[in-house]
Amino acid sequence: MSAEAQRRYRERHPDRVKATLKAYCLAHPEIGMKRSAKRRETRAQTQPWHSRPHKAAIFAFDANRRAKRQGATGILTATAVRELDGPCAYCGALAMGWDHVIPLCRGGANTVTNLVSCCWPCNERKWRRLPDEAGMWPVRWPR
Ligand SMILES: [Zn+2]
Repeated sequence: MSAEAQRRYRERHPDRVKATLKAYCLAHPEIGMKRSAKRRETRAQTQPWHSRPHKAAIFAFDANRRAKRQGATGILTATAVRELDGPCAYCGALAMGWDHVIPLCRGGANTVTNLVSCCWPCNERKWRRLPDEAGMWPVRWPR
């Protein structure tokens, strides 16, 4: 079957092609895993974990919800959060997320001026404390 004939067959019988592909994928589950592993690998190289667009969106959404619940001011957007990309502001390690320098529960604003990129260990260590309580000062204060 030539490539042209294959294309015509796919156009004429989309449901048959779909069923065949589905059956093949179910019979060979390792293919999907191989694919996603490869995708994960290339993505990790080209884009660090914390800078992936959807991570910033999730963080912004989550922070906005928490801020609203706690009556804090400010609205974050994924774009603004993404611009704060960089190493951890406390230890310089690869940042995996962001941190409110003045925690929301302590009256901090939910704005980019109160945010720095932060790694998980530092985020856990700082917890709900102010910088001087935790003894942790960000190397670069947010704009
Ligand atoms: Zn850190």
